[in-house]
Amino acid sequence: MKIWANSGDSHLVEPDDLFTSSLPASLAERMPRTVKDPDGSHETVYIDGQEIRRRLPKLAATGLRDEQGLTVFERAPGANDMKLRIKDLDGEGIWAELVYPSIGIWMSSIQDPKLLAAGCAAINDWAFEYQRYNPRYVCTATVPLLDAEHAVTEIQRAAGMGFKAAYFSVTPALGAPDWNYDLWEPVWAAMADTGMVVAFHIGTEAHDAATMHGAYFRGPGGALINYTETTYGGQRAVTKMIASGVFDRYPDIKALVSEGGATWGPFVADRLDEAYRQHASMVRPALRRLPSEYLYANVYASFQHDRSAVLAMTAMGWRNVCWGSDYPHIEGTFGHSQKTLHQLFDDVDEASARRMTVGAFEELFPHVPPAPANGTEAPTER
Ligand code: MN
Repeated sequence: MKIWANSGDSHLVEPDDLFTSSLPASLAERMPRTVKDPDGSHETVYIDGQEIRRRLPKLAATGLRDEQGLTVFERAPGANDMKLRIKDLDGEGIWAELVYPSIGIWMSSIQDPKLLAAGCAAINDWAFEYQRYNPRYVCTATVPLLDAEHAVTEIQRAAGMGFKAAYFSVTPALGAPDWNYDLWEPVWAAMADTGMVVAFHIGTEAHDAATMHGAYFRGPGGALINYTETTYGGQRAVTKMIASGVFDRYPDIKALVSEGGATWGPFVADRLDEAYRQHASMVRPALRRLPSEYLYANVYASFQHDRSAVLAMTAMGWRNVCWGSDYPHIEGTFGHSQKTLHQLFDDVDEASARRMTVGAFEELFPHVPPAPANGTEAPTER
């Protein structure tokens, strides 16, 4: 039986000419771009004078060669096309999806506020066409997070366009103070005013060539160590929001951590409560409610394969757990979403499964049309 699920973690793939077609050449040439090595093993990311080399995961090779003789890897056919993408989603049983940028994730490494703001606006103008095409795409607005003034301007502009979520890197842009500092107060106020969801995606720490993403650790086990390490930033980001009283001052703000599993939620809640109680004399600011109450009420998490994430809801009582496909990334479920959904949810009670597959997402994005009933096919296009 087909299971329908909303995805709390998906990605758009920006076209190569996004910046050159929308910005003056003097700005476009400083924007992030990636160039793959001919053998597909590494890529170089160029960002405003920085060069970051990184190894690429091996995708399943199809055995085909493209016109340049490069190996063609299996990827989602609709990754770059808003119409084909709906067919991919229908096939996989994915209804609505929260869509993050791809190249936009590198924006937090730009250190010129005006350049960053121009780049974010260009990404957002392009991304919003997806949501305009079909409300099943819930696009995240990329926010320039070097300073509060530029951030608030773009948050308000994006909300005016109709964005329902803003993509926040798990740390502010390189060199800016962290999320628990007062400097960001106007940003939280703007997020509360606009009602947009604060959407953190893991693995989005600001980086420069010296602390490049994905290679904090070297040596035996490096790939596994680094992959696991990418998870923690999302936990740190919401811990900073809770501890510095953001949800105390703005109880309507909702924050989502995408792609990072979910059992960390109850764990972090316990750690925060113990500190709040046992270290009370050192705790500033005081909070109106226990830290755990904010985590359970204001914070959401999406996961793709994690068996334990289901238990964060069914055994630990965190209701804000939702599934995510990570389409079209290699960590995601494209090609096996139905198998994964059945493995995860077949032995889970119906109400809990419904909450994780569609309900928690609908709570964040009530404007999205309801998912089809399980066991039915997608309605034909309007
Ligand atoms: Mn993702």
